Order: sequence, then C-alpha cells, then structure tokens
Amino acid sequence: MSARLDNRPIATHLSTEQVGRLRRLLVEEYADRQVRAIELEDPVDLEPDLADVLRARCYEAMGEIDAALARIGEGSYGTCVACGAPIPFERLEVLPAADRCVSCQAGRDRVMR
Ligand SMILES: [Zn+2]
Repeated sequence: MSARLDNRPIATHLSTEQVGRLRRLLVEEYADRQVRAIELEDPVDLEPDLADVLRARCYEAMGEIDAALARIGEGSYGTCVACGAPIPFERLEVLPAADRCVSCQAGRDRVMR
C-alpha cells in the first residue's frame, strides 16, 4: 500500500463518455448483484451452504463496485491502484470494477492462490 494520497494518479486516457458508460455498467451490475443476493437468502434450488458462498460473492462484488464508483467520484478510476498505469477501456468494459492492470492482477492472483 502506498501512502501517496496527495499524489494520486488521475485517469486521463478515458473520455467523459467512456467513464459515463462504465459508470452505468457499474450501477446496473450493482443492481443485478443486489437482486441475486436477496434471491439467495431464500434459495429454492441450491444447497444452503452453496447459497451462502454465492451470496458472500455478491456482497464482495457489490463492495468492489462501490469502491469503483467512489474512484470515479475522486477521479482516480481507470488507473491501476498498484502501479498507477492506465487500465485500457477495453478491459474496463469487460470488468468495470477492475482496479488493477492485467499484470498487477495476475501477480495478485498468484499470491492469493
Ligand atoms: Zn498495475
């Protein structure tokens, strides 16, 4: 974790339209996850344990989306939180809540496994 809070990189590679589109994707995904999490509170077709795991994942995703929306608000959205590199629009379009570039995410996934 770096402490360069006063020197935060600002994404300049995304247009206002692109950020607006990604913001809409985030809001839509948040709503989908929220609906799914509520469904999983009373699962009809799943083992309760599995439903708990899936519900926890929904809340995790909602937390990531919240964080992404907060980064849009502060202007740091679209830059890697680990190395500060710009995250390409194409990656964000697939994974709007991504907070790392591909290489930092790959490194992190290796550590977490
Ligand atoms: Zn990075």
